[in-house]
This record gives sequence, C-alpha cells and structure tokens, in this order.
Amino acid sequence: MSKNLKSMMLPELSAVLKDMGQPSFRAKQVYTWLHRGVRSYDEMTNLPKSLRDTLAKDYPICPPEVVRKQESQRDGTIKYLWRLSDGNCVETVLMRYHYGNTVCISTEVGCRMGCAFCASTLGGLVRKLEPFEMLDQVLFTQVDSGLPVSHIVLMGIGEPLDNFDNVMRFLELVNSEDGMNISMRHISLSTCGLVPKIDELAAKKLQLTLSVSLHAPNDAIRDTIMPVNRAYPSEELIEACRRYYDATGRRISFEYAMIDGVNDSTDNAKELLRRLKGLPAHFNLIPLNHVEESPLKPSSREAVSRFQKTLESGGVTATVRRTLGGDIDASCGQLRRKYTKETT
Ligand code: SAH
Repeated sequence: MSKNLKSMMLPELSAVLKDMGQPSFRAKQVYTWLHRGVRSYDEMTNLPKSLRDTLAKDYPICPPEVVRKQESQRDGTIKYLWRLSDGNCVETVLMRYHYGNTVCISTEVGCRMGCAFCASTLGGLVRKLEPFEMLDQVLFTQVDSGLPVSHIVLMGIGEPLDNFDNVMRFLELVNSEDGMNISMRHISLSTCGLVPKIDELAAKKLQLTLSVSLHAPNDAIRDTIMPVNRAYPSEELIEACRRYYDATGRRISFEYAMIDGVNDSTDNAKELLRRLKGLPAHFNLIPLNHVEESPLKPSSREAVSRFQKTLESGGVTATVRRTLGGDIDASCGQLRRKYTKETT
C-alpha cells in the first residue's frame, strides 16, 4: 500500500489518524480537504498546526506540477503535461462537451502493449501510476482550469487493465461520497483487450462503460496492428465482451481507429456485423491520428462515412468521434512524446 494518504479510502485514513491519537472526526476533515485538491496541509485551516506539521513530514502530498498547458483555440480543449514527484511525466486532457466537462486521464507512465499506431507505447512501460496519481489528474485539472469535472475517461497513456488494482482503487476513490462523488455511469474505461481482466472487471458489476479498442474485424488484420491479439485473439475478446454484457447489462462501446487501406473497407464493416451479432454495442469511429513514427495514415472522410453507414444499416449504432484538440497534439501520448524528445 502506498504511503500517500490520497490513495487511502476513508476507513484506512481513519486508522492512520487514530494511531496518531487523533479524534475520530479528523479523518473526514482530512479526506475532504485532500479530495478538494489542496497542495499543502497548511490549507487545512480547521486542523491543529501540530497535526498539519506531522502529516506534512510523514505523508507528503506530492501534487503534480504543470510542465505544459495547451489550450485549443478551436474548441477549448485543454491538455496538461504533469510532472510527478519522481520526475516522470503524464498527460491529461480536458474536453468540453454539452453534457459536461470530461477529463481523459493516464493510468501508466508509458505502455507495454505495443499497438502500431499509438504514440504512448513507443518508449515502452516506465511504471504504473498509483491511485492518488490518477485522482490528482482529475483534481488538479479541475483546480487549475476552474472547470467542474463531471465525466472521466480512462483513455490516456497506459493500459488500465494492466494496472488493475490501482485503477480499481482510483475508481472507488473518485466515486466516493466524501470525495469527488463522480458517478460510475459517467466513467469509461478503455482496454486493448486483456481477456482475463475483462472477466475480473465484469465480476465487480460496476456501472461504468467498458470501451474496447477493437480496431479490426479479424485476427489477420488485428495481429498486424495490435500485438495483444496474439495473446487474446479476437474471438476470445468478443466472447469476453458477451460475458461482460451478460454480467453487467452494460452495452459495450467499441473503439475503431480508421486506418487507410487497413481496416476501413465495406467488407470489414460487414465482417464486424457478422461477428458481433446479438451483442448490444456502439461503435466510436476515430479517424487515425497520424503519429510521426508510423507509416499508417487516416482513412478518408468518405471511407469513414461509408463504414458508418454499413454498420448502421446492420443495426449497430456508430458515431464518428469529433476530433477535439487537433491543434494541440491532443491524441494519446503525443505531448509526452514530444516533450521527451525535446529534452533528451
Ligand atoms: N490502453 C487503452 C486505453 C488508452 S488509448 C486502450 O488500448 O484502449 C485510448 C484509445 O486511443 C484506444 O482506443 C487507442 O487504440 C486509441 N489510439 C491510440 N493511438 C491512436 C491514434 N494515433 N489514432 C487514433 N486512435 C488512437
């Protein structure tokens, strides 16, 4: 267990404060302050000075520092590059939708999944994030921007299900009544398809939205762009999605990055319809964001709209994701990558 108080649920925090000889009402005070995004114990004005000093010494808050902040002139999207207390950097994006402000957080420093089109994985996995480091991205984005956060997507750098326990703890923290109290229904978790972990998540029966990065209708194509498919082939993944739906009653959201000449034909869409038959699903079609190091190119607008029509005529809803923050390197891992390249 991390020594950071912000990774602890209220009962654990209570035990720590009880050990320090504090009265029982203190824990909730400290928990509430921490979950408001204070940067120092001195902001906790209803705590005795001696306790603030002890906490600062034994349990430093370690808030992340803003290294870069970019705001889109087009749509108000804000992208943060944070420096964590050990010097590593991660990205967070705030997107402004009509239904509320959505924060896209990172779950790891780097990623070991190796998807061919993704900037986050180019340097491999450095380390997993602690629960408080995920919470901090939400808290300090809200504090810095002054914009209340109502929705969270785990779609930044990293594979959330490869950091399972810490991610589950983060969900519990951000959902807690005395914390940010963000409803599970306002949270989406995206995975490249770690089948045993999808089953583990299903067993928890959370009301969050599971997003699955499918990106291909079959193994022949998926194997070439997503190494994870060799461990968990698409048939097993689709079966896991069916089990997930049966366990939770939640429709699966499939992400599908449209890559020119790779996965964007009408036949590809028809094959998807055949293979997903009977599974309540929604498709997010995302024109590929070009990554400098990769030869893969985005599909044409015509190909995307043809693909969308084919899926919809087969009874599967599909939306083309509005690209926000196109002018600020807002896609997965691009800002951290740029910064690392400039500074090394
Ligand atoms: N590891 C998780 C979540 C992080 S990525 C996952 O794989 O789902 C969030 C989404 O962005 C994934 O669907 C991922 O495949 C997609 N993505 C990554 N790089 C992209 C790019 N260059 N263009 C479009 N989508 C991309």
